[in-house]
Amino acid sequence: MSDLAFQRCINPVCRATVDLADTSFRCPKCGGLLDVAYEWDRLPVPKTLKHFESKWSNRSDPLDFSGVWRFREMFPFAPDAQIMTIGEGQTLCQRADAVAAYVGMKPGRLFLQYEGMNPSGSFKDNGMTAAFTHARMTGASRAACASTGNTSASLAIYCAATQLMRAVIFIGSGKISYGKLSQALEHGALTVQIAGDFDDALRQVQDVSRRLGIYLVNSVNPFRLEGQKTIMFRILEALRWQVPDWIVVPGGNLGNVSSFGKAFTELQELGLIDRAPRLAVVNAAGADTFFQLYDRHGLRWNAGEFDRPKLDSYMTAMDAANRRADTLASAIEINRPVNLPKALRALERCGGVVREASDQEMLDAKAKIGGGGLGCEPASAATVAGLLKLVKEGVISRDDTVACVLTGHVLKDPDATVAYHTADPAVFEAKLGKRGVKRASFANRAVQVPNDLAEIVKAIELYA
Ligand SMILES: *Cc1c(COP(=O)(O)O)cnc(C)c1O
Ligand SMILES: [Zn+2]
Repeated sequence: MSDLAFQRCINPVCRATVDLADTSFRCPKCGGLLDVAYEWDRLPVPKTLKHFESKWSNRSDPLDFSGVWRFREMFPFAPDAQIMTIGEGQTLCQRADAVAAYVGMKPGRLFLQYEGMNPSGSFKDNGMTAAFTHARMTGASRAACASTGNTSASLAIYCAATQLMRAVIFIGSGKISYGKLSQALEHGALTVQIAGDFDDALRQVQDVSRRLGIYLVNSVNPFRLEGQKTIMFRILEALRWQVPDWIVVPGGNLGNVSSFGKAFTELQELGLIDRAPRLAVVNAAGADTFFQLYDRHGLRWNAGEFDRPKLDSYMTAMDAANRRADTLASAIEINRPVNLPKALRALERCGGVVREASDQEMLDAKAKIGGGGLGCEPASAATVAGLLKLVKEGVISRDDTVACVLTGHVLKDPDATVAYHTADPAVFEAKLGKRGVKRASFANRAVQVPNDLAEIVKAIELYA
């Protein structure tokens, strides 16, 4: 494989390098996380970001059509002939004035980056196309992941669409939304359900993959994060290459925020932007390890010398109390975020903040996002719920330019949406009330009318 791309330990005092083809995704010297790194000096880097606009005129080439691979000069680890694309990354960055009004921002300042338009309905496809490509480069015939749902849906769709690999999916027995599970089953993935939760499934899949030599696509895989950088490139492009003041993203395994931080660091180092936006990560209150450690315990990257005993003792206390992640936002129901060190590094480089949002706050924000014209799943709405707080606190100004990443499609988790808008108190109680959600402030309830023309006309005249 080319020596212009390789893997490198993120620990600045270690910096061990690993061959591009290695699939263990852990530093052999210190056990730390790896980055994909490049010999930029020996690679053709575009002079300006405008260069990427020229790709639009070449849409008959599948690599230039892809919203991920048309930026491939920014993550040049794969020869064109080996790239696996299914047309991912055709997304929309929509100006959202109604949502801006909800959070107290000026019109024209808030943008929603809608990743629900990807082939599998979530942002995960941005990273999966890159990891899938790396898997093929290493000759893998099987790929596995543990998933709260969207990673498995994405892996399943790449395997089915290309017919090149067998997908093995590990799920816990707790919450997985039916929208996501249905995708894994429909696309023919081998689905292994473990008696345990996501954190258990993640531990098992790593051991099983090592033992059977199955390629692992969980977000500890640094190649996924390379593909996810393009979400930021598409936001910049939609803003005519103007850097926004803030990017707001939900935090689960913290792959996205890590990837975004790397994207902006590289763009700056290559002279393609002159400043980075700030990053705001929003945890679910029921899965708030990162918020606790960063905001409450002051854990910082500290140029790589972060306070590891503080992190370890937090995790030990969590286990001792048998505290499990618990939120309706299943995509971010994770208490042991695997990319935590990389996320700390991203926040240090970009000047980041972390907040948390309750299920109530996320569902209210979700209804407002939906009312503004984009449908997302509960985890995605953590962004707008967090933004509302940050504007109130004055951390984000009403004139700042902000882009929130809506990570997944509304149809991923229709149960939560239907329960929120229901007129039936029993349905609300069963799905939401018993989990601590008190009200549906922005519910749009169906109107009950007799099967009678005059009554129907009367009801419509009353409500619309
Ligand atoms: C995976 C996922 C997240 C969490 O992203 P991380 O990169 O793991 O922090 C958030 N929202 C949705 C819809 C997801 O599928
Ligand atoms: Zn190392």
